Amino acid sequence: MKRDETKKIQIGSVLIGGGSPVAIQSMTNTRTEDVSATVEQILKLESAGCEIVRCAVPTMEAAHALAHIKRHIHIPLVADIHFDYRLAIGAIENGADKIRINPGNIGGKDRVRAVTDKAKEYHVPIRVGVNSGSLEKQLLEKYGGVTAQGLVESAMDKVHMIEQMGYEEIVVSIKSSDVMMCVKAHELIAEQCPYPLHVGITESGTLLSGNIKSSVGLGIILNEGIGDTIRVSLTGSPIEEIKSARLILKTLGLRKGGIEVVSCPTCGRTKIDLIGLANEVEHMVADFPLDIKVAVMGCVVNGPGEAREADIGIAGGIGEGLLIKRGEVVKKVREEELLETLRQELVHWDE
Ligand code: SF4
Repeated sequence: MKRDETKKIQIGSVLIGGGSPVAIQSMTNTRTEDVSATVEQILKLESAGCEIVRCAVPTMEAAHALAHIKRHIHIPLVADIHFDYRLAIGAIENGADKIRINPGNIGGKDRVRAVTDKAKEYHVPIRVGVNSGSLEKQLLEKYGGVTAQGLVESAMDKVHMIEQMGYEEIVVSIKSSDVMMCVKAHELIAEQCPYPLHVGITESGTLLSGNIKSSVGLGIILNEGIGDTIRVSLTGSPIEEIKSARLILKTLGLRKGGIEVVSCPTCGRTKIDLIGLANEVEHMVADFPLDIKVAVMGCVVNGPGEAREADIGIAGGIGEGLLIKRGEVVKKVREEELLETLRQELVHWDE
């Protein structure tokens, strides 16, 4: 179902589905057993805008660590479990707000039932996750390899298994590193699944390729009204994942707030270090709680005109630049003072 119609599910203090705002998730890359390192990373993720965080739970020590981690953080904690159903039970008993399992790889129906019963007892939602790398043999044979139809059938089989065990606090994720297959799979599953969908492009790569694949894939899926939580998977810092996720949601009009920086591509007229300046501006505005557009333009010839769409902007010249407000030049500033002048304007910004 589309995001306005999916079942509302409570994950700790955050509601997802049923028209709730699309929630941003990330996953820690510290050892979960290392409580202080994991807490430190989660607090940084919170500051960046992460709303739900997932930790790998590969050992019982990690499951026990969740209870200690939870005492220091302020967002829901999801335990990521593979293979060992006892870790899922341990994670729930230690306060996980949601567990992510692939019911196909934790050792049979009885074990899925044991996890489901524990989740029911603690009112902890289960995220059923399948991905293209773990598709069952019979589905690979049925569909002649990994296909969107096979992914959806695999996910829905598991959803039905948990429903038959009398539990409906379910979130579903289907992932593939093939972007267009992932899009197709989400379109198909949205037609038959009443539960919230967590959307991400898996193994999407390093910063550049990961951002591009995630933007294209998540952009199409979210724009079709599908998807209740997202993760931008990057081979890099999880903080970068949050920045990218926020920008994707903002670009799609699914989030308000935060300063949007637009900057020109530079050309033969550029006489200042615009690339450096644009990066400095982007960094500087990150903490301002304003919902405005800031333009950083390379020259005074076209800059003011091109910055007309923005609330405020700066345009470079030779040794000096212009401060522009809604297309009107308001003052000339020495080049080295452009950044600080803009910062002062933002500090004293009055809508
Ligand atoms: S604003 Fe000026 S420097 Fe930037 S691309 Fe346009 S003409 Fe070139």
